[in-house]
Amino acid sequence: MKVYLDGAFVDKSEAKVSVFDHGLLYGDGIFEGIRLYDGNIFRLDEHLERLEYSAKAILLSIPLTRKELSDITCEACRINNLKDAYIRLVVTRGPGDLGLAPWLCPKPTVFVIADKIALYPQEHYDNGLAIVTVPTRRIGPASLPSTIKSLNYLNNILAKIEAKQFGALEAIMLNEQGFVAECTADNVFIVHKGVLLTTPSSQGALEGITRGAIIAIAQELNIPFKETSLTRYDIWCADECFLTGTGAEVIPVTKLDGRVIGTGRPGQITAKVLEAFRKRVRIEGTRI
Ligand code: PMP
Repeated sequence: MKVYLDGAFVDKSEAKVSVFDHGLLYGDGIFEGIRLYDGNIFRLDEHLERLEYSAKAILLSIPLTRKELSDITCEACRINNLKDAYIRLVVTRGPGDLGLAPWLCPKPTVFVIADKIALYPQEHYDNGLAIVTVPTRRIGPASLPSTIKSLNYLNNILAKIEAKQFGALEAIMLNEQGFVAECTADNVFIVHKGVLLTTPSSQGALEGITRGAIIAIAQELNIPFKETSLTRYDIWCADECFLTGTGAEVIPVTKLDGRVIGTGRPGQITAKVLEAFRKRVRIEGTRI
């Protein structure tokens, strides 16, 4: 496997970054998780735009243009002969002195890995996922805007660990006010009386690219949609629930904290948007 690292494609065994890299020392950096489906990169431009906004928000200047990043991302797939892949594009603050000061890091590190990902076993796509609410709260937007896709994932990792200890593969994270923010690496949608609902970034959700695709699909399929605050009550009383993410795609949720959601089976609207999503990813996108 070849990995892009700071200007060249190198063998996986040689793709190494400095121990002084602030991405490693402090989680100071940003990333994107991107999907290649049947030779097409899904929503590449949206991913690169979100990366640029994340960079802007942390005052990090990406040393490559959008076109260059786009070309490198395509090449990472081509060079590894991939048709279907998960691509990880990372820009760190780069190597610097010990101490937080990002302005003492002269050169950001850029790397791109194109590989495989399988987040959940197929049975959960067929039968639904049982998830739990965890005690760890999502860091609020006033402390760390959830719209920044940063390398700081400890908040989510703590939640993921708690989920595992409760025997679940994914967790609902509430914000400090007790509203649903999102899951550890996925956005949350519910269906209530035919209306599709998801949480806004102001409540601690990442503006997911898959989330955006599902909203567009809902509009095309004339499924009423609203972005709104949600509580656990809304999930308890929902007819359907599903999660979205680049890695997870669209996965039905049939239980929260041991409570059955809706009929206990993946819902009809979930199935409809999932089918439309599967179609869309095969035809839409940037040809590598
Ligand atoms: N929330 C979090 C915290 C994430 O890390 C992700 C990405 N896996 C998502 C939501 C979903 O975003 P996207 O659809 O862009 O992958």
